[in-house]
Amino acid sequence: MDSQKGHPKLFSFEFFPPKTPEGMEKLRQTQRQLSQLHPAFFSVTFGAGGSTRERTLGTVLDILKEGDQAAPHISCIGTTKDTLKDILEQYLANGIRHVVALRGDLPSGTYGGGEFRYASELVHFIRQEVSKELIIEVAAYPETHPQARSAQEDLLHFKEKVEAGANAAITQYFYNPDAYFDFVERCEQHQITIPIVPGIMPIANFSQLSRFSDACGAEIPRWIRQKMAGYGDDAASIRAFGLDVVTHLCDTLLSAGAPGLHFYTMNSAGLTSVIWDRLHLSSYKT
Ligand code: FAD
Repeated sequence: MDSQKGHPKLFSFEFFPPKTPEGMEKLRQTQRQLSQLHPAFFSVTFGAGGSTRERTLGTVLDILKEGDQAAPHISCIGTTKDTLKDILEQYLANGIRHVVALRGDLPSGTYGGGEFRYASELVHFIRQEVSKELIIEVAAYPETHPQARSAQEDLLHFKEKVEAGANAAITQYFYNPDAYFDFVERCEQHQITIPIVPGIMPIANFSQLSRFSDACGAEIPRWIRQKMAGYGDDAASIRAFGLDVVTHLCDTLLSAGAPGLHFYTMNSAGLTSVIWDRLHLSSYKT
C-alpha cells in the first residue's frame, strides 16, 4: 500500500444525470448538502452510446455554477472518434478539466459498432488528439472485471490505461477490503503507482444492490447477505446494519492508507453524510 499513502485524502461523490425536473431539483438539494463537505469533485455518469450526453453536461454545468469541481464521465463503446472529440471539446469549452474515461456497457443484444473497443484506446485518444492536461480517471476492479479472462489479464489491461495516460483510478465497489489491498499490491508489483481510490457503495436498497452486484461482478460476502436476508422487510435494521458495514469498510481502507474515497451516492446525501460524520472524514483532508 506504500504507493497509496499520503495526505491529504481525496473525497469525491458520484451522481447520475436525472431524467425529470423533479429529479434535477432533488439532485440540486443533494449537491448543496454534500458541497458543505468540500469534496475534491463531483462526478456525473454518462450513458453508454451517448444516451445521456446532454443531461450529463447539464448536470455538470449545474455543479460548476454552484462553485464546485465537476468531472463528467465519458464512455467510448458504440461511439465514433468524431463524436467523442466533439463531447470532449464541449467539456473543455465549458471549463471542465477532469474526466472519468470508460468503455461503458451497451444493453445486452445491442451491437455497438463504434471505433473503440477498450477504455485504454479512449485514454490514448484523449492524450493524443484532445488534451495533455485534462485529468483522466479510469475504472479499476479489485475483484476483477466480469468479462476479464483472468485477474492477471485484467491487471495488465488496467496497466495499459495507466500507460496511455490515466492520472488516477476509481474502483468498482466492493465489501471485502482484502480484495482492494491485494489489487494495490499487485499494481505495485507492476510499477503502477497512480492513486487508486476505493469506490464506496452505501447500502440503501439491499435487493436492488444484490441484483446489480451480480451484473457488475461485485461480491457481497455471504455473511452480509445472510444477515440482510434475516431482516426481511425491516428497512430500519437494513439501513442500520448497512451503515455499520460500510462505515467499518471505509475506516479499514483509510487506516491502511487508501488515498481517499469515492462515494456512489445514487443522488442521495443521507447515507454518505452519516458515514462522513461517523468517521470525521473532514479531518482527513488536512
Ligand atoms: P476497460 O478498461 O476497457 O475493460 C473492459 C474489459 O475489457 C475488462 O474485462 C478488461 O480486462 C478487458 N480488456 C481491456 N483491454 C483489453 C484488451 N486490449 N484486450 C482484451 N481485453 C481487454 N459505465 C457507463 O456506461 N457510464 C459510466 O458513467 C460509468 N461509470 C463508471 C465509473 C466507475 C468508477 C466504474 C468502476 C465503472 C463505471 N461504469 C460506467 C461501468 C463500466 O463502463 C463497465 O464496468 C465496463 O464494463 C468496463 O469499463 P472499463 O472502462 O473498465 O473498460
